[in-house]
This record gives sequence, C-alpha cells and structure tokens, in this order.
Amino acid sequence: MISTKQLFELQSLDLSIEGLRKSIQGIEARLADNQAILAIQAQLEEKRRELQSLKRAQRDVELELATIEDKIQQVDGRLYSGRVGNPKELMGLQEEATAHKASKQRCEERILQMMGEGEEKERQAKDTEARLKGMQTQWEQTRRELESERRQALEALPSLEGRRSVLVTQVSPEELKVYESLRASKGGAAIAKVERGMCTGCRMTLPVYELQRARTAKGPVFCSTCGRILYLS
Ligand SMILES: [Zn+2]
Repeated sequence: MISTKQLFELQSLDLSIEGLRKSIQGIEARLADNQAILAIQAQLEEKRRELQSLKRAQRDVELELATIEDKIQQVDGRLYSGRVGNPKELMGLQEEATAHKASKQRCEERILQMMGEGEEKERQAKDTEARLKGMQTQWEQTRRELESERRQALEALPSLEGRRSVLVTQVSPEELKVYESLRASKGGAAIAKVERGMCTGCRMTLPVYELQRARTAKGPVFCSTCGRILYLS
C-alpha cells in the first residue's frame, strides 16, 4: 500500500512536470511566432518601394515636361519674332507648336494622375505603418507576459524534478518499471484512485473482492477493466 501511495505521488509529480514542460514548449512556440508582424512589415516595405518607383517615374515625366516647355518657348519665340515671313515655314512652326502643346498637356495629365496615385499610396503606407506599430506594441505586451510565464514555469521545474528524484529512490525498481510502462500505454495515468468503490481511470465499479485485495495486498493491484494500478487513499 505504501508503495502505491508513493507511485500515486510520483504520478502527480510526473503529470505536473509534463504539464509544465508542455506549457514551456507552447510558450516558446508562441514566442517564436511573429509571422503576422513580419507579414505587415513586408507589406509596408512593398508599399514604400511602390511609392519610390512612382516618384521616380513622376520625376521623369516632369523632366520631359520641362524639355517640352523649352521647345514651346523656342518655337513661340520664332513664331512671334517677326523674322519668319515664309507662310509655309510659319505653318510648319505652328504645327510644331500645336504638337508640343498637346504633348505638354499629356505630360501634365500624367503628372496629375501620378500625384493622385502617390497620395493614395502614401495614405496606404501610413495606415500600414500605424497597424504595424499597434501590432508591435501589442506583441511587446504579449511577449513580456509569455516570458514571465515561461520564467515561472522554468523556476517551478527544478523543485518538482528534485522531489521526483527523491521519490523514485523509495519505489522498488520492479514497480517503477511497471509504472513507467503503464504510464506510456495509459496516456500518462498509470495509477487510478478508487472513489466510492469505482476506478476513476475507467469509471467502472470494482468487484468487492478486487476492492478487498486493493486494501490488503502488499504489492500493486490492477483494475480488471482498464489495467491501471488501483490506489485507495
Ligand atoms: Zn479501471
């Protein structure tokens, strides 16, 4: 009976240790997972790149516009200088001026359109940046909480492990072997408490003779239904 009690204590410790280790693993997995933030960061970088290439393209069109304006000035200068008298030449200059003015208008329209697009992209980048900042602040808070949880779990582990290693020396090697193999096959619960004549491992009512044996036997008594070691507190 005494050894069954110790085995039951050992099981409680093992379950606590296992629970702590699982929770540490879970915490570490969550700490390593900042995919959401990385995704937003990538989005923001993409938007900034788009904005920069749009600005470069806009500068190119602005340069083109300046060149066209120069040309218009030159053509207008010649047209209105009074020095060109040849009607054919005058007509040619007028056609040239008209063509340049049409190009100028196209450039101006493109610049306006690009400015509109740029403003929209800038707004999107700002929104994304704000979202990222919010997520980072929230993540910092979560990270601190998780790290504190992990610290507590890590601090609790050595004392449980210490108690386990002491307890193990008080159990016979044979019983420990039976316990370990049952634990592996019964999902961590090798010992089942008996409550009101029932095995809490399988919820079956125990036959009277089995209860009697569990009370009096020197060695472990197994539940005839689930095979766990019965423990009467
Ligand atoms: Zn049982």
